[in-house]
Amino acid sequence: MIWGWLLPGSAFISVLFFVILNKLLKRKRPKLKIDEKENLPSFKEYAFTFLNFGVFALIGLGMDYSQIGGFLKMESIRAAGEQNRWFLIVSVFVCLGIHDIYFYLTHRLLHIPFLFKKVHLIHHTSTNPNPWTAFSFHPIEGVIQIGIVPILAFFLPIPELAVIIFTVFMSLLSVYGHCGYELRAEKWKGFEVFNTALHHQQHHQFVRYNFGIYLSIWDKLFGTFSPFYQKSLKQLIEKNKGS
Ligand SMILES: [Zn+2]
Ligand SMILES: [Zn+2]
Repeated sequence: MIWGWLLPGSAFISVLFFVILNKLLKRKRPKLKIDEKENLPSFKEYAFTFLNFGVFALIGLGMDYSQIGGFLKMESIRAAGEQNRWFLIVSVFVCLGIHDIYFYLTHRLLHIPFLFKKVHLIHHTSTNPNPWTAFSFHPIEGVIQIGIVPILAFFLPIPELAVIIFTVFMSLLSVYGHCGYELRAEKWKGFEVFNTALHHQQHHQFVRYNFGIYLSIWDKLFGTFSPFYQKSLKQLIEKNKGS
C-alpha cells in the first residue's frame, strides 16, 4: 500500500524542492532566471495543484488495491527476492522511454482545439511558469499525466522498485520544466538531445512548439521544435558567463 501516498507525495516533495531551490537561486544566481519578470504562484495554481494531488492519491489507491487483487504485472517489492541490478536499471530506462513517447503523443492530443479549450487551457494560463505550475491542470489532464504509472504497472513485468524510481524522477523532471530557472545554462555542450526548463518554458510562451518531456528528438522529428530555442539558450549562456 505505497502508491496511494507515493503518487501525490513525490509530486508534492518535488514542488517543495524547487520552491526552496528557487529561493536560493533568486539570491545567489539570479541570472539563471529565464524570464526576468516575477512569476509568483496564483491562487488558481495552488488550488488545481492540490486538486490533482487528490486525483493522484485516488489513482495510487486504485493501484494498491489492484496489487492486492493480483491484477498488476509489476513484480511486487515484497514478493521480489534478490533483485537483478541490471534488470532494474534497464526497467527504469524502459519506463522513461515509454513515458517520453506517451507524453509527446498525449500532449499533442491535448492541443486539439476542443481538448485544448476544455482541458489543457488551465495549464496554459501560466505563461511564465513557477514550480506550482507543474501540476496545475484540469483533473482530466491529471488522470492522463499520472496515468502512465498504472499503465506501466498493469502491463509490464518489471520490478516495483523501477516504477518507484521512475515516478520520483518523472515528478522532479516535471517541476524542473516549470521552475523558471535554467540549471543547465553552462553545461550545455553535448546535451542537445535532452530537453531543458527553457524548452518547456517556450512551450508556455509560444504554445505551438516544444511538446516533449525528456528528449528533443520527438519535437525535431515532428517539426514542433521551437525555432527560437537556440537563440534564447545562447543568450542565457552568454548572460551567465563568468558569473
Ligand atoms: Zn501544452
Ligand atoms: Zn507545462
